Amino acid sequence: MSHDSRWAPYRVTVLALLLAAFVGAAIYFDLVERQSTVWVHLAYVPIVLAGLWWGWVALGIAFLQGCVLVVLRLLGVGVGEAWTDTVRVLLFLVVGACVGGLSARLQKTTRAYQVSSENYRALFEHSLAGVAVYRDERVVLCNRRFEALLGYDEGGLAGRSIWEVIHPDDHAAVRARLERRERGEVRGLHYETRFLHRDGRAVWVDLASEPVRFDGRPGILVNVYDITARKEAEERRGELVELARQQEEQLVHSVRLAELGEMAAAVAHELNQPLTSIRTFAKNAAYMLENQAGEPGEVELNLRRISEQVDRAARIIGQMRQLARRSEPIAAPVDLNAVLSEALDFVAHHMRLSGVEVRFEPSPDLPQVQGDRLRLEQVFLNLLTNARQAMEQSSERRLRVTSRFEPGHPRPVVIEIADTGVGFAAADAARLFAPFFTTKQPGQGTGLGLSISLTIVKDHGGTIEASGAPGRGATFTVRLPLAGSVVTEDGRKDA
Ligand code: ADP
Repeated sequence: MSHDSRWAPYRVTVLALLLAAFVGAAIYFDLVERQSTVWVHLAYVPIVLAGLWWGWVALGIAFLQGCVLVVLRLLGVGVGEAWTDTVRVLLFLVVGACVGGLSARLQKTTRAYQVSSENYRALFEHSLAGVAVYRDERVVLCNRRFEALLGYDEGGLAGRSIWEVIHPDDHAAVRARLERRERGEVRGLHYETRFLHRDGRAVWVDLASEPVRFDGRPGILVNVYDITARKEAEERRGELVELARQQEEQLVHSVRLAELGEMAAAVAHELNQPLTSIRTFAKNAAYMLENQAGEPGEVELNLRRISEQVDRAARIIGQMRQLARRSEPIAAPVDLNAVLSEALDFVAHHMRLSGVEVRFEPSPDLPQVQGDRLRLEQVFLNLLTNARQAMEQSSERRLRVTSRFEPGHPRPVVIEIADTGVGFAAADAARLFAPFFTTKQPGQGTGLGLSISLTIVKDHGGTIEASGAPGRGATFTVRLPLAGSVVTEDGRKDA
């Protein structure tokens, strides 16, 4: 049955000797002993051997030996009745056919079995994944890739505990997963974990495992892919993102400082005006007092003007300080409906005096936002004051304040403040939020309100937009993210 060609010459020799012995025995017993009993059975030995070794060759051997009997009979040296030789020849052929056929079939099955196990072995060994089977927490079998992944020589992992393979830092997590399978909650497992390389370093793997029958007993089949390179890349990416975030933070701070620098110059300019006025009024008052000049009450008027200019200067300085303030960590959940209602109470008196009809439409299901309540209130106070001032010359003075929730939007909490005031030109829309942009009379506006509001809203992860047209009123829309969510500049939700 063996295909080992090393044995072929010996087998041929043995068979030739056996055939020679058969022919010799036939001649000797027919001619000399004149009997043909026991020696005939010698024929079966080469038939069976040829069958075992070469399958159908057994039939050829049987035929050859039959021929010997026939030739002897034809030569007239056959012993006994002729039909006995016929029966013998037939028996040779039947035995040859049976042994040859069975053996050929067996050889074919064995070869097929060998080919199929070689195929499976090739699949196992050349698989791109590391493959292993373990039972009772010990490795029963694994392929070269699995061993190479962990730096072991061939056969170096067989018999080792799986806990030697898994990185000690991940033992608890893996154990918890295996326990879930033992409890029958899951059958297959798929997760990422670290293995321990022989030299002590961690190897990241993507691991899938499933119960199988192996060697007729239950075991666990494990497939692993090396994902260390990917994991390292991810780690580096995380570090880079963090670095970029830190740099961005620094940049924002520097930009703010630069803005402050620019603003300092503008403030100096802004403050110059009230200071010049104060000096003039003060000089006037002093002159009048010294020289008993002017109408009664004029000194008082000058002093009141001085006081107004001081207020104005103080207002500019106060707003400047707000703008310079670095954003502090945003703290508590805030109910914007309550904040709006408070801000409206605050300006209610002024609105009444200006003849403004106020409508407040808060959304009953407005979720909370995360932030600094006072700073947010400052934003709304500023927007409300602007709206009131914008309507001073309007015949129709209506203010509509609404809040609404837009689920699905990254900044779903929306506040809208709409007025029927002067509105603004399209060209001004982009400049409204710039520091010191104002269309108000000198002394009425500083041009810092919207700029501060924008800074505050941005600090809360939100946006402010203005829409409007000359003479058709203006609408300011503030959008804020929900408490607990982080929104990037472009509106993506990060968490
Ligand atoms: P200030 O109110 O001191 O001028 P702001 O920064 O608050 O400063 O506003 C800047 C400018 O934006 C205003 O001068 C005005 O031209 C314009 N603006 C603000 N709110 C409105 C509004 N509701 N309607 C029309 N224009 C507005």
